[in-house]
Amino acid sequence: MRGGEGLNRSGERMTDVAIRGLSKSFGTNRVLKALDLTVPSRQFVTLLGPSGCGKTTLLRLIAGLEQPTEGEIRFGERRVDGLPPGERNIAMVFQSYALYPTMDVARNIGYGLEVRGTPKAERRERVGAVAKVLEILHLLGRKPRELSGGQRQRVALGRAMVRKPDIFLMDEPLSNLDAKLRAAMRGELRRFHLDLGTTTIYVTHDQLEAMTMSDLVVVMNEGVVQQIGTPEEVYARPANLFVAGFIGTPPMNLIPARNEGGRVTVEGHPLPVAAPAGAPAELILGIRPQDVSMATPGEPGTIPGKVWMVELIGSERLIEVEIAPKVRVTAEVRASHRAALDDAVAVRLDPAQIHLFDPASGQALPREAVREVGARPA
Ligand code: ATP
Repeated sequence: MRGGEGLNRSGERMTDVAIRGLSKSFGTNRVLKALDLTVPSRQFVTLLGPSGCGKTTLLRLIAGLEQPTEGEIRFGERRVDGLPPGERNIAMVFQSYALYPTMDVARNIGYGLEVRGTPKAERRERVGAVAKVLEILHLLGRKPRELSGGQRQRVALGRAMVRKPDIFLMDEPLSNLDAKLRAAMRGELRRFHLDLGTTTIYVTHDQLEAMTMSDLVVVMNEGVVQQIGTPEEVYARPANLFVAGFIGTPPMNLIPARNEGGRVTVEGHPLPVAAPAGAPAELILGIRPQDVSMATPGEPGTIPGKVWMVELIGSERLIEVEIAPKVRVTAEVRASHRAALDDAVAVRLDPAQIHLFDPASGQALPREAVREVGARPA
């Protein structure tokens, strides 16, 4: 720990966020369903999920802008559901960063302190310190209309940072910026977080943002937490079919497979992979396009098919191979790899990268139990 027991480097309290059995309904629409989540102190945690899954609602409940239907929210030892937003010591940064148009940047950043009656000298010092971190010292005298989108977003961040909140809540703060600026701001936000060490909960539907900035990613769907893990974990060990299909670009191939006497087969072709003990007869096999390579038909352990679609994506080429009617596997190969539509080909699935799922529950079978065996049928 950098700052002493219970405090971070800026002398602030360390605050973890504990959410237990949290539900929220709007009328009959149950948007969050008995959600449990612990956000460890000082971590940057992203709520990631498709539009409408309840991310913003969860953030607004944490902020106190909505009241839960059931459940509780604690910041450290303190129970906060029921407290108004002003008593939670949080700072929010939204997608639309409404700055006061008539005030200059310094006053925009310091306005929250001004209304709280912070003395002018202290205000100036704190605004200066934040502006230095954000590298906007030279902009302090400008009006918002004289700033670029990225500069305005930094001012909005400055306004949140200057209050030294226990927790930052951010709702898609980069989504109004163009792609290049967004990429630059991702790095900056991550750096600010490492410098400040303030617990941050960040809502996005952009998996690149989640994967590049977070200590932990909370994957949500339909008001339910699907998986909580580091970016590496949710990518390499998806807990269920939803996470497997949602994380990763291009998406993971998910194809029907079978457990035939302990051996995994796809469309009757045995793969060099043993099904875990107790695996059901019907399986879903998951493999990322990067872990599929092209092979010659007839090679042991491969699956024959014909080229259905070829797509160039920069330095790589995606080859979609139809292995049975309406069953296709995408391989991501080097752009120099030539393939023509309807070519007879085969795909090899890297046995070490195969995921197996139970189609009934959607849950992943334990990865360590998916063993590689000899390429020829046993
Ligand atoms: P997006 O990425 O599109 O912002 P989200 O995951 O943040 O989506 P929410 O904004 O939390 O999703 O919305 C979840 C569901 O709750 C949606 O079906 C939405 O219509 C509904 N909802 C949100 N706020 C309200 C409200 N104030 N009144 C009624 N329904 C609401």
